[in-house]
Amino acid sequence: MINLLSLDLQGMEALFAELGEKPFRARQVLKWIHRRGAADFAAMTDIAKDLRAKLAAAAAIEPPLVVGDGAVPDGTRKWLLKVDGANAVEAVFIPEDGRGTLCVSSQAGCTLDCAFCATGKQGFNRNLSAAEIIGQLWLANGALGCHAGGPRAVSNVVFMGMGEPMLNLDAVIPAARLMIDDNGYGLSRRRVTVSTSGVVPGMDRLAAECPVALAVSLHAPDDALRDRLVPINRKYPIRELIGACNRYLERAPRDFITFEYVMLDGVNDSDAQARALLGIAAGVRCKFNLIPFNPFTASGFKRSPPERIKRFAEVLQRAGLTATTRKTRGDGIDAACGQLAGDVSDRTRRGKSVPITELRA
Ligand code: SAH
Ligand code: SF4
Repeated sequence: MINLLSLDLQGMEALFAELGEKPFRARQVLKWIHRRGAADFAAMTDIAKDLRAKLAAAAAIEPPLVVGDGAVPDGTRKWLLKVDGANAVEAVFIPEDGRGTLCVSSQAGCTLDCAFCATGKQGFNRNLSAAEIIGQLWLANGALGCHAGGPRAVSNVVFMGMGEPMLNLDAVIPAARLMIDDNGYGLSRRRVTVSTSGVVPGMDRLAAECPVALAVSLHAPDDALRDRLVPINRKYPIRELIGACNRYLERAPRDFITFEYVMLDGVNDSDAQARALLGIAAGVRCKFNLIPFNPFTASGFKRSPPERIKRFAEVLQRAGLTATTRKTRGDGIDAACGQLAGDVSDRTRRGKSVPITELRA
């Protein structure tokens, strides 16, 4: 039984061709599922009964199961979604003035093990399917009242939940295509952001197949420190990463790269380190987004003090760069960046964490 949530327009048209149906029917069904939130073929009233029966025999619309739903007064809401018997992932909705951002997960766990990330510490189980990724948006829209005719709550999607999206592009690309398709969620290309720790071949593939907005987790101004904080740097060092950023921008000429930079007290937050970033920024069209570190049990790091973050931002700003600081949201439900842990049945038996003494420069 095929899960129709997994199909972008191309996939849906291929299925309808197999069923001997016209392509416009595929668009109709996409709209029913993603724009109106239909989970049941019986609801699709402008589709002939015999086609509905054919679909019901061959396919289903199956989102992940919501097993947890928490909200805090700032409006942030977090769902825990069971994707199979052993794994659950998290999605977070963050309302702000004039927009609503949904942060989605792309994997159950993560293989990359960045030093400061709760997801990484938890190990890895598997890639999510396209249906499990788009299902997070489908469920959020339903929970936020949009399927019932309410206003569209999710205006932006960021792939900043659990997992490394560039290591699961076979599922991330169809999901992102549905997000920007007018028959799907109709979001503009710039309102869908894929965040990567710097998986260079993935960046090139995404540029070629679905060039949405790109955020890159930089976190250090030099390879020596980045090797320790973001271990994938050993494979794709900063020079190669910047090359990939520039190739990406060729596909998206009016865009810029957002460099994410987690502020870790005494590790990567000095004035000298801010100045060293200017050298990197000179080579690529970019903006900086400083993320105050969000602590989790036994992380071994501390958040930089607010004055330090302000000062760090000023060094960048005085050189003419745009540097914003991310507001910390979702306190109390562990819904902030890097705190998403869900429930992952680790297959890597990573378990151990690196002592802080090894991480300090
Ligand atoms: N794997 C992707 C996307 C998910 S993480 C990536 O690494 O880019 C989204 C962002 O949260 C990344 O910039 C990541 O480095 C950052 N992050 C991870 N752990 C964090 C923490 N404890 N506090 C603040 N930001 C964190
Ligand atoms: Fe994986 Fe991103 Fe966490 Fe690194 S920061 S471990 S790439 S989810």
